[in-house]
Amino acid sequence: MQKNRILLSLGLLAALSVGLIWFGLSQEVSPDSNAAPVSQAVPPTPVSQEETPDPADWRLCLVNPWHPLPEGYQPQLTQVENGHQVDSRCAADLEAMLADCRAAGHAPLLCSSYRTQEKQTQLYNNLVQKQIARGNSRSEAMAKAAKEVAVPGTSEHQLGLAVDIVDTQNQVLNRAQEDTAVQQWLMEHCWEYGFILRYPPDKEEKTGIIYEPWHYRYVGREYAQAIRQSGLCLEEFLQR
Ligand SMILES: [Zn+2]
Repeated sequence: MQKNRILLSLGLLAALSVGLIWFGLSQEVSPDSNAAPVSQAVPPTPVSQEETPDPADWRLCLVNPWHPLPEGYQPQLTQVENGHQVDSRCAADLEAMLADCRAAGHAPLLCSSYRTQEKQTQLYNNLVQKQIARGNSRSEAMAKAAKEVAVPGTSEHQLGLAVDIVDTQNQVLNRAQEDTAVQQWLMEHCWEYGFILRYPPDKEEKTGIIYEPWHYRYVGREYAQAIRQSGLCLEEFLQR
């Protein structure tokens, strides 16, 4: 009987000790209830103006008339609005940009996104035919078409990182887009969501594509900010 009591006391003592240790530990790891929660998010790495951009970074993948898509390139796609698809890595930022543009009182319309090789070929051939119908020779027609619709295999839309956005009030893809409320807002804010106006005015020789105040390319928030601050187009930025 006496032995049992001693064992019971020892057991209670052990339980109490464990409880005290646990209490002490939990006090140590529990944050102060009044303290702000500690964010688990890793802050984005800032890209300094002097830093040489890494051309191997997927966000900076250069696709233009002189740099075709990597062989067999197939991005992982995510469906966004109106049945459009984009590279999954830019879908959330694109949706946030469109939502905030609408919250600012505008009416953006996503009208082009990821394109397959077949789709790009179809668009390009249609434009070549139009140029031929205007009296151009086939080679002239192909050269003229290429400035407006990239030659298949050289379109950023095939990367899944480019989108065309117009104002619902004016859905014509011409220079007048730049005066619409949607483009005014996008040009001012797109970099905050990781997008750049990819074909700016006066950069046609560098980009190979006419001024397109509707075509936005995702490069990630850090690079978008750096490119905006630099005033360079993507080709120039990569050659710094
Ligand atoms: Zn485009």
